[in-house]
Order: sequence, then C-alpha cells, then structure tokens
Amino acid sequence: MNIILLGPPGAGKGTQAARLVEHHGMRQLSTGDMLRAAVAARTPIGLRAKEVMDRGELVSDEIVSALIDAELTAMGEGVGVIFDGYPRTVQQAEQLDAILARHHRRLDAVIELEVDEEALVRRICGRFSCANCGEGYHDEFKPLRVPGTCDRCGGHEFKRRPDDNEATVRKRLQVYRNETAPILPLYEQRGIVTRIDGMAAIEEVTDAVERALASA
Ligand code: ADP
Ligand code: ADP
Ligand code: ZN
Repeated sequence: MNIILLGPPGAGKGTQAARLVEHHGMRQLSTGDMLRAAVAARTPIGLRAKEVMDRGELVSDEIVSALIDAELTAMGEGVGVIFDGYPRTVQQAEQLDAILARHHRRLDAVIELEVDEEALVRRICGRFSCANCGEGYHDEFKPLRVPGTCDRCGGHEFKRRPDDNEATVRKRLQVYRNETAPILPLYEQRGIVTRIDGMAAIEEVTDAVERALASA
C-alpha cells in the first residue's frame, strides 16, 4: 500500500505515520525529516533549505521530489510507503504521480487529518522529540512517562524544532491553506480521500486511520 497523510502542521501526521510503521512495517517518507537531516549534515541541499524552513516557507518542488524519488529507488518494491508532509503543492502532486508510475506503485489512499487551527498552534508549540530515537512527544498531550527519560529508548536528551514557534506556525498554516489544500480536489476526483477527525485522542485517530486503510 502507498498512502498520503495530509494535514496542516501539527495535525498528527508524524505521530500517526510512526504508529503505522510499527503496526504494519510500512516505511514513513517524511520530506521534513529528510530536509532536517540534510540541514544537520550541512549538505548543499541542507544549506539552501535551512533559511526557507526557518521562515516557514516551502523548499522547491524539484528538491523534495528528488528526495522522494531517491528514497523509493533505494527501497525497492514491495514495501508499503506512507508519504508524510509530501506532496505539499499541486506541482509536487503531479511529480508524485510520475514518480509512482516509474516505480510501479499506485496511490491507494489519501488520509486527511482535519484539525482546528488554534489547537495546532498549541500542539506545535508543545512539541518535542527524543534526540536519540526520534520518538515524538508533547508537553501536555503526550508527556514523558518518567520526567527526563524517553519512554521508548531511555534517552535523556530531547530537542525542539527551531520552526516550532507561534509566528512561524501562523506562516506555515497560511502556506498550507494557499499551496497545499488545493491538492485535495485532485485526489477527491479519484475517490481515494478519507477525512478523519484529527482532534480526537491519538489512539482514536489511529483506529480511524486503520479503518480507512482496511477499506481502501
Ligand atoms: P505533524 O507531523 O502533522 O506536524 P505531529 O505528529 O508532530 O504533527 O504532532 C504535533 C504535536 O501534537 C506532537 O507534539 C504530538 O505529540 C501532538 N499530537 C499528535 N496527535 C495528537 C492528538 N490526536 N491529540 C493531541 N496531541 C497530538
Ligand atoms: P510540519 O508537518 O510540522 O508542517 P514538516 O516537518 O513536514 O513540518 O516540514 C518542515 C518544513 O520543511 C516545512 O515548513 C518546509 O519548509 C519544509 N518542507 C517539508 N516538506 C516539504 C515539501 N513537501 N515541500 C516543500 N517544503 C517542505
Ligand atoms: Zn528515545
């Protein structure tokens, strides 16, 4: 299966993708994670992308589509993929169609996580993750079970993203409305979109995603 998790920043795409990876052995392809890795490694792409990301704007379609294409090539066939944070523009959606065709894959489902905008700001401003294993947390909604210790790997170091502040989040929400929301009608025409209430508790959202995939 190949699916897209779609939704504004903070909707829960990364959280749900991680659960699908765990339950189904699918692979999560997050262009945000790939770009952050490029920034950390100071590659030419990372050096160019950093400021754009810090401003909450979009990195070029060519760069992110090339990253996705390279990952699919490295992965080979047979492994299901969750696209998380990609595509984000109509042009990326078109590029994804071409990429999937080249890799003999088809798009089975697009899951749209619907959330309330004010809740997103609160979610993003409380987001942090384990510096060692990447597990995602939230100050209020998914706190550490033991303060200072990662539930998953026992690590003690955590990080917050430089773009997870209120001003940048508002900008990213605006970019989502203008650039990303217009790709939904494309997939609606194909009858593969399921809307899910992303305001429900994390486990409830997962159940709804599982139901959507079972009928895809
Ligand atoms: P996205 O990948 O869409 O940007 P994340 O999965 O990183 O979003 O979630 C953003 C923040 O909100 C994280 O701190 C996460 O722990 C928290 N979160 C995710 N889903 C929910 C939910 N259903 N209810 C409350 N908090 C959530
Ligand atoms: P979130 O889910 O919280 O919006 P991501 O981790 O998906 O954040 O993306 C972080 C930043 O990386 C975006 O604000 C943007 O600058 C860049 N980025 C990620 N994916 C894409 C993409 N598909 N196209 C363009 N820019 C992207
Ligand atoms: Zn950890």
